Amino acid sequence: MTDKKIALITGGSRGIGKACALELAKAGYNVVINYVGNDEAAAQTVAELKELGAEAYSAKFDVTNKEAVEAGVAEVMAKFGRIDVLVNNAGITRDGLFMRMSAENWEAVINTNLNSAYYVSSPVVKIMMKQRSGAIINMASISGVFGNAGQANYSAAKAGLIGMTKALAKELASRGIRVNAVAPGFIKTDMTKDLKLDGIEEHIPLKRLGEAQDIAKAVKFLALDAEYITGQVLQVDGGLVI
Ligand code: NAP
Repeated sequence: MTDKKIALITGGSRGIGKACALELAKAGYNVVINYVGNDEAAAQTVAELKELGAEAYSAKFDVTNKEAVEAGVAEVMAKFGRIDVLVNNAGITRDGLFMRMSAENWEAVINTNLNSAYYVSSPVVKIMMKQRSGAIINMASISGVFGNAGQANYSAAKAGLIGMTKALAKELASRGIRVNAVAPGFIKTDMTKDLKLDGIEEHIPLKRLGEAQDIAKAVKFLALDAEYITGQVLQVDGGLVI
């Protein structure tokens, strides 16, 4: 057990989740990063978290598997005894035009980006309610706010996450739990590395793609410094969609 506050970040081994983990560790949190397959990336991230002075470990479980999630959350409680910040960040894309979208690709994206947030938040909210404090940040997307051709599955999942954010914010405020979402634009991670984004900077008022760190700063703000903010969707997209 520890005096430090605890953050659980799904999909925390790489990309945006990793940047959030490092940012929260710098702010004095102990951090649990969840991941599903890439052991090497998870080990590297844990090593970097420890270098920052955080107690940290990686929790390998599939966020689409309710039983595995419950076991993973129970392990966090056994190790640290509390959860102060939850970042529902794990996500995938399976892009394609709707006319050709398979049920498999629809379901994989809804399960990983939306149903996962239910599976993870469900046990974590119970813990936070007992603590009478906590912050949940859901990783949405501008696709969930505005829709994106070729991403009906992903847009639906992220819009669902935004609806969940607002409903939970209303349900949980009286228990001292705040729930917000971040909606990133185009961020340089493995998820976007194969997209043809040449020239996209011209359409972004701030004239560059986002870095994972840009999102992590917004997550840290919502988690730590936004005591009077709940139920909001913070767009972090360089002004791409205004
Ligand atoms: P990324 O680099 O592809 O990393 C994805 C992370 O999610 C990895 O840690 C991965 O674990 C984990 N993950 C995937 N499926 C999982 C599962 N079933 N169970 C547990 N963990 C799982 O992605 P990213 O770009 O950082 O994206 C992070 C979040 O931001 C996602 O929700 C994404 O939709 C959202 N987002 C990203 C962008 C962007 O431009 N990059 C824009 C808007 C929103 P492994 O390492 O084990 O595979």
